[in-house]
Amino acid sequence: MPTQSQNVETLVLHAGYRADPATNSVAVPIYQTTSYQFNSTEHAANLFALKELGNIYTRIMSPTQSVLEDRVAAMEGGVAALALASGQAASLFAVQNICHAGDNFVSSTDIYGGTWNLFQNTMSTMGIECRFVDPADPENFRRATDAKTRCYYGETLPNPKLAVFPISEVAKIGDELGVPLIMDNTASPVLCQPIKHGAAISMLSTTKYVGGHGTSIGGIIVDSGKFDWEKHAERFPMLNTPDPSYHGAVWTEAVKPLGPIAYILKARVTLLRDIGAAMSPFNAFMFIQGLETIALRMRQHCANASAVAQHLSKHPKVIKTIFPGLMTGEVKRRADTYLKGGYGGLVGFELAGGAAAGRKFIESLKMFYHVANIGDVRSLAIHPASTTHSQLTVEEQEKTGVTGGYVRLSVGIEHIDDILADLDQALAAV
Ligand code: PLP
Repeated sequence: MPTQSQNVETLVLHAGYRADPATNSVAVPIYQTTSYQFNSTEHAANLFALKELGNIYTRIMSPTQSVLEDRVAAMEGGVAALALASGQAASLFAVQNICHAGDNFVSSTDIYGGTWNLFQNTMSTMGIECRFVDPADPENFRRATDAKTRCYYGETLPNPKLAVFPISEVAKIGDELGVPLIMDNTASPVLCQPIKHGAAISMLSTTKYVGGHGTSIGGIIVDSGKFDWEKHAERFPMLNTPDPSYHGAVWTEAVKPLGPIAYILKARVTLLRDIGAAMSPFNAFMFIQGLETIALRMRQHCANASAVAQHLSKHPKVIKTIFPGLMTGEVKRRADTYLKGGYGGLVGFELAGGAAAGRKFIESLKMFYHVANIGDVRSLAIHPASTTHSQLTVEEQEKTGVTGGYVRLSVGIEHIDDILADLDQALAAV
């Protein structure tokens, strides 16, 4: 292990790699190859039989992805990770790895719209039922659980409501019932380690803050190594009974000599092997670059977003500002419990003038980009009612926290004076 540090700032620079064993390159090389030559037929057979771990084919693994995986696993406090082509692939694989047709899982209603669609419309065609519950009351997860429930799913800092998820509350219910909690930590890397609060699995769209520069699409799943799949063997036949797709391997048994990585290794050698949603080595390199400055960037995103939220909350044309730091009661308690070092880079606000004002505001911005992304170093804005949420009815929009006058900002790391000046001139035009 190249570092013994427990500090995220150090881990994202030093975990999993010191210098390239072939060339001594300090920067992680981009291994732009499809395949890796076997040393012998015995070596090849051992790799396929998982008797030893090593590179075979870039759809399944590569040394570039491997460094990213080790670093994100270290950042999240897990034991191993699996890099994938997108955040969507990571959400799908995280659930599908333990859910068969006929099974169900329970998800927070407070999740990204793309994940909602995946769970509600695409996974149902696979025979996997998603039961959506309001996370405001964690007991809703218990109420929705039955013998076929395979996991819980939530987002640490979900937009647009920005109400932080009750991680340890739901993880505790899962512990009692033998159900692992999967947390999407896309919007709050560094600020929160869901695994420390009891999540069994965390995942991120690396497209956002991990990459940080809006250049590459990717996703990653992190295994805490802490969930006891064998103790709950009846709930997890996919990990505890012979897998016909891998010459009858029982994953919890087969993987034992390699560490507590049955879940993540199975995802790699079955789902990734079959579905092929692999991250390219080039994108893995881009995410490694992004990761090197993530702690610094998150600090600046948080400081700027906090200043923006304060400013907007006093503006006469703004009727409501949504930001975890400005919340009260239980939602504020959760924000303070789970987010450390800031409240994230996302700010929502509602304009008094409704949908027309929302559109006018977006059209008047000069420095903010009008895009559907979040987590870029540049400041970004979107009017959800006319874009990301336009396929929903007005009632459905309101249920998800989106009103006509609602605007979402992903606050960047520019100088705060320039950010506030752009917002002020756009507000003046409304
Ligand atoms: N999870 C969250 C919270 C997101 O915001 C997104 C994308 O916006 C995703 C997952 C999906 O990630 P990707 O766009 O990388 O597929």
